[in-house]
Amino acid sequence: MAGVYISYPFCAQKCTYCNFASGVFPADLRDRYTASVIAELRAAKWQWTPETIYIGGGTPSQMDPRVFLDQIPGRPWREVTIEAAPGTIDFEKAAAWRAAGINRVSLGVQSFITGELARTGRKHTAETVASDVAILRRAGLESINIDLIAGLPGQTRESWTESLDWIERIGAPHASVYMLEVDEDSRLGREILARGSRYGAGDVPDDDAIAEFYEIAVERLTRAGLRRYEISNFARQGYQSAHNLKYWRREPYLGFGADAHSFDGEWRWRNAESAAEYAADSSPRDRAAADAVSERFFLGLRLAEGIEGDWAPFDDAIRRFLAEGLLEFDGRRLRLTSRGVLLSNEVFAEFVPVAP
Ligand code: SF4
Repeated sequence: MAGVYISYPFCAQKCTYCNFASGVFPADLRDRYTASVIAELRAAKWQWTPETIYIGGGTPSQMDPRVFLDQIPGRPWREVTIEAAPGTIDFEKAAAWRAAGINRVSLGVQSFITGELARTGRKHTAETVASDVAILRRAGLESINIDLIAGLPGQTRESWTESLDWIERIGAPHASVYMLEVDEDSRLGREILARGSRYGAGDVPDDDAIAEFYEIAVERLTRAGLRRYEISNFARQGYQSAHNLKYWRREPYLGFGADAHSFDGEWRWRNAESAAEYAADSSPRDRAAADAVSERFFLGLRLAEGIEGDWAPFDDAIRRFLAEGLLEFDGRRLRLTSRGVLLSNEVFAEFVPVAP
């Protein structure tokens, strides 16, 4: 069964670490963009009945998601997630989401420490998040994800542990832990690469500290009952994201909106990257056959469950990783070891197809 991804790249502010094609754009672009997504959804040829929907961003919690959901067949869907910025939720909105079929909310928290948040451009506090979670629960929305970033400027082992404590305190059943990405696509990333000091770039923890933060997260979250089921994702039993699992298990999904990607089981394609480009031309591009052999390894090995089946044509690399303790094999399934998770980019580089 297929998943549907809808991108809504509009935000109230541009966070310093954010490397998505999202941001603060004029209202007329937002209106043209929304109309283009609705038109793309209406024109879709539904080869499968959608089972899961994910409305991501950006900050889709600042618009009415029903304008998109009303165009999608398959109600009642198994799982419908909306991403939300803390502080943008009230009871009325949460109840309307629930009535519209939304049953999972992903909160872009990133940190529970006020000083760390302030430097990223985020305005919420730990109390805002706790209050949002209480509102969501009152509206019947129990399946809640909290996003955290390891590696924010000024983060220490103590402050990181405090953020993890908050996850336990509010009883979130799902958490996503991402490592800060340093690249040219974010203001903070550019400043770090230029060895500058704006946005707290000089106070970013080093790689060893970030790796330690990740290991602390695995330990603390596991103790709180949230087991790692994918490199960045932790959940209580029954709260794994059915939608995101489709990406790693290579099940089909259709993407709508800017920079949305699609996969029909055989072919992959994507939409224009920026909101402005997409609003002007929503036709799909870069259609290419999926490399099923490579993808099975570099997507499937992200999952704690690992993969089954033969290892050809990567026999040599896999034997090397087994000998180095980065992969393990239990006689049936191949998976990353704890050390392999930390060095996963090195492992996956062996499986990613080389561009012609
Ligand atoms: S991190 Fe989220 S809220 Fe901040 S700019 Fe990026 S998409 Fe928008």
